[in-house]
Amino acid sequence: MNLVLFGPPGAGKGTQAKLLTEQRGLPQLSTGDMLRAAIAAETALGLECKAIMVRGDLVSDAIVIGIIAERLGGPDCAGGAIFDGFPRTIAQAEALDRLLNSLGKQIDLAIELKVNDEVLIARSENRVKEMIAAGQAPRADDTPETLRNRLDVYYRNTAPLIAYYRNQGKLETVDGMAPIPEVAKSIAALLDGAA
Ligand code: ADP
Repeated sequence: MNLVLFGPPGAGKGTQAKLLTEQRGLPQLSTGDMLRAAIAAETALGLECKAIMVRGDLVSDAIVIGIIAERLGGPDCAGGAIFDGFPRTIAQAEALDRLLNSLGKQIDLAIELKVNDEVLIARSENRVKEMIAAGQAPRADDTPETLRNRLDVYYRNTAPLIAYYRNQGKLETVDGMAPIPEVAKSIAALLDGAA
């Protein structure tokens, strides 16, 4: 099962992907996590991406397609994977289709997590407060201005994936404003239906 989870920043993709990894053993391929790890490790890739991510803009398609291509060949992805935060553009979605195709695989399901902007803004503010309370540094891109840009970037570049996957007959939409366990239940039902 190859599953794409997409939705605006703060929609809960990472939370749901982690639950799915625990429940189904599918690896979570989060380009955001991979890029943050590259920044933390101060690799050349991390240095290249840092300023772009702080602004809330998208890293180039070539970079993220490259890191996903590398990961997809890994043995843990043989039985499928959960794509979290990738694809984020039509070019990335097309590249992912080609990559999977070359491995004799395909995307089985693309789930859009739908959440209103007001809720996303409140969640981001909460995440910052929680991280500070826990003694951790908040994410550099969780400021109100950057969040506004991340939302704009989402609607401009990523929302077209809705039509892309709908045209392929693979799109499902889940209410991402329901409580976490309920969202997880809805996703589980869709996966069981698609299996
Ligand atoms: P969120 O979904 O909360 O915005 P992510 O962790 O998925 O957070 O991504 C954080 C940032 O990493 C993005 O704003 C972007 O700069 C970069 N990024 C992550 N995935 C991609 C991608 N597929 N294409 C381009 N940039 C990406």
